[in-house]
Amino acid sequence: MVLVMQKIEMDKPIVEIDGDEMARILWHWVKEKLILPYVDLKTEYYDLGIKKRDETNDQITVQAAEAIKKWGVGVKCSTITPDKARVKEYNLKKEWKSPNATIRAILDGTLFRAPIILQNIKPAVRFWRKPIIIARHAFGDIYDGVGIKFDEPGTAEIVYKSKSGKEVKVPFREFNDSGIIQGIYNLDTSIRSFAKACFNYALERKLDLWFAAKDTISKVYDAHFKEIFEEIYENEFKEKYKQAGINYNYYLIDDAVGRLMRTEGGLIFALKNYDGDVISDLVASSYGSLALITSELYSPKGYYMSETAHGTVQRHYYRYLKGEPTSTNSTAIIFAWTYALRKRGELDGLPKLIDFANKLEMAVKKTIEIDRIMTQDIARISEPPVNKVVTSEEFIDAVGNHLKTLMSK
Ligand code: NAP
Ligand code: MG
Repeated sequence: MVLVMQKIEMDKPIVEIDGDEMARILWHWVKEKLILPYVDLKTEYYDLGIKKRDETNDQITVQAAEAIKKWGVGVKCSTITPDKARVKEYNLKKEWKSPNATIRAILDGTLFRAPIILQNIKPAVRFWRKPIIIARHAFGDIYDGVGIKFDEPGTAEIVYKSKSGKEVKVPFREFNDSGIIQGIYNLDTSIRSFAKACFNYALERKLDLWFAAKDTISKVYDAHFKEIFEEIYENEFKEKYKQAGINYNYYLIDDAVGRLMRTEGGLIFALKNYDGDVISDLVASSYGSLALITSELYSPKGYYMSETAHGTVQRHYYRYLKGEPTSTNSTAIIFAWTYALRKRGELDGLPKLIDFANKLEMAVKKTIEIDRIMTQDIARISEPPVNKVVTSEEFIDAVGNHLKTLMSK
């Protein structure tokens, strides 16, 4: 007797945002080999591959973000943020903005980045036993800033003109050389929703919350972030935190990173946009690999996007193009999908979809923890040692084998 397995049905689509290079190759393998055999996948597809962004003058990126507003849930692959070299490589019209920055500016919100903890992949920082979750503000600052490069001595000032006609001017010191200027901003509603998202996230998980910035130097900008966090804590969370037995602390960022090294983990570390960008890569690498980190965007309006935190893995892609084997870790791509599928399942009341997402994650963990089959990025640091270092495709197939068993139960 041949058993035909019924695929898991979906109700509403997930906004699928495709990306570039090796990440894009893995994206499609993961879909074909791990998801499509079991799920009657409904997606609204947006190709954010660099050529398509160039063709559409980057309108496709805006459309993808708008689609997430419509459907509530998105999943995003890594994309190239073009620099001069990429403009030449792909013959682009210009250095298009980072798609991540564009999407985050449209959706607003907070990015939560958490390591995927595996028993046999030990963090580089010996004391870290529990996850450190980085909460990164996903709006404004240098990601939506402006810059001027000037080529002779001169003066400059920042001018703010309000709608009602008020004007505030702040001069820089006089410049006696050529140089550069940068103007950045943020908005109170966005900082507030960032702060609230962090306070709530920590409270739900009963973990301490840290927020760090540099208010001693940035006496207007960073100090304002600090004030807003303080105010929201005092007015809305202080009592709740006391009851839950958790703490909120503000630290200077240099103090905070020093302290972080001496904790055992198990906390939420909230950071401004750029600080979160840098520190999340540092923390992620310390937990083993950029491919062992999940990244979720929660917007204040309830929109959700899961994504990969690592890039397009350019060097591996060139090897792939030459027909050479690659050993690229697809764990973060798989988890981006499971997080989006689970969220869709929760929102639409589809327990089978949630169960599938759980089983797919379990299949990854069994492959790495029990079989000790892994890609080269984590093979070096496995304790006990790796059984088999595999290629990108072999890893996905090994996960597929476990998934098959789990799904037949
Ligand atoms: P990257 O793609 O993250 O790669 C940096 C290095 O980390 C790789 O060369 C590789 O090391 C290792 N690595 C990253 N992901 C891996 C994985 N899944 N499996 C195994 N090893 C992995 O960063 P990048 O080279 O700085 O940037 C490449 C492109 O990605 C750029 O165009 C950048 O704009 C873009 N980017 C996109 C995002 C995003 O969309 N989320 C984020 C960052 C960068 P080895 O070569 O030593 O094996
Ligand atoms: Mg980064």
